[in-house]
Amino acid sequence: MIDMLSFRLERLGYGELLNWEGIHHAKIEIGDNKYDAYRVIHDTSLGPSKGGIRFHENVNEEELKMLSLLMTLKNSLMELPYGGAKGGVRVNPKSLSRDELRELSKKYAVAFRDIIGTWKDIPAPDVNTNSQIIAWMLDAYQNSVGTRDMAMFTSKPVELGGIHFREISTSFGGFVIVEYIAKNIERKNITVAIQGSGNVGGNLAKMLYESGYRVVAISDSKSGIFNRDGLNISEALKHKEINGSFEGYRAEQIDNKQLLELDVDVLIPAALELQIDEKNYRYIRAKWIVEMANNPIDWRVDGMLGSYVVPDILANSGGVIGSYMEWIYNLTGNYLDENTMKERTKDKILSKFIKILQKNRENMREEAIREACERVLRAKRLRN
Ligand code: NAD
Repeated sequence: MIDMLSFRLERLGYGELLNWEGIHHAKIEIGDNKYDAYRVIHDTSLGPSKGGIRFHENVNEEELKMLSLLMTLKNSLMELPYGGAKGGVRVNPKSLSRDELRELSKKYAVAFRDIIGTWKDIPAPDVNTNSQIIAWMLDAYQNSVGTRDMAMFTSKPVELGGIHFREISTSFGGFVIVEYIAKNIERKNITVAIQGSGNVGGNLAKMLYESGYRVVAISDSKSGIFNRDGLNISEALKHKEINGSFEGYRAEQIDNKQLLELDVDVLIPAALELQIDEKNYRYIRAKWIVEMANNPIDWRVDGMLGSYVVPDILANSGGVIGSYMEWIYNLTGNYLDENTMKERTKDKILSKFIKILQKNRENMREEAIREACERVLRAKRLRN
């Protein structure tokens, strides 16, 4: 995966960004088990690094290097004063009890306490982590270094300095893009399929459904459901909440492969990376793909798809914009109301989307990468 990214950046003339400032590793002991934990800092030329922490059994150094680089590009593209980082623990969190998960979160924050910091590196949740895990990390970090500074983690619970908007900010960013495609480009009642129904996919599905869009399919890691006329998303998510999956819900049952291959106007991968690759790219029929997950398309097949691809560093940037607003709130104590936050997020994402769309609709990823890399390089030159 990282080879492909390296190849792409080198080909575009940005090979000098293929350097990582720090790759930090720790072994965390929980009972009889030891887990590999990482925090990878890609670049801090534009400001303190920022990026999520994931708990997943596939976490590895190469993956985190790639994701940290994507964070640098995302923050740069959205003109935020941040560099890029990513962290994770190689663990299946479902195999842990709540107490073990708490212990793991706290030990992670202490293991990397010299790297994390309000003006150094600011983590947030990612796959299989949430505001409760961030609350445990915040507490362990603060107790360990002796501070009540709140700004070194984002996506905190509101009682611990978080803001309500952060939880939905990633999905909200995707929503404004889909809405723009529907109203200003396609100008029709579009159909949407969403892979994943966690924080990002679930909230985005809800927003689209509540605004009258036709969400025809949604899935989780176990199963998916489909209805050509549009699903009742509130009901479907309720079913999943009660039963743990979409199985048994009154709609056609489909698997993730079928979902990705549906003939829809907009396909939204909102689960994990590399869902569209050399094996299935020929069968993808969506007119638009809005990448809410990070790196859901293997870059090897990027140019071979017949779809317009809104790249991850643009499409899912609502999350880091929401985090930025939380950070500013922690630093200043000045709370913006939710409507103002939404308006600002919408302005930021739409202005960038429209600019990139107009420049190169066929290859929005390359356009976005160029703009992002140029800003990082300007910052680097100014420092040297
Ligand atoms: P999450 O853990 O809340 O949800 C992940 C969803 O993906 C779940 O519905 C899960 O069942 C599903 N899933 C897992 N494995 C799958 C598989 N093999 N096939 C199909 N579905 C599968 O995570 P999230 O926060 O919603 O993040 C989803 C994606 O969005 C990730 O790529 C993440 O990096 C990216 N992202 C998240 C944020 C954020 O603010 N949470 C911001 C930017 C990008």
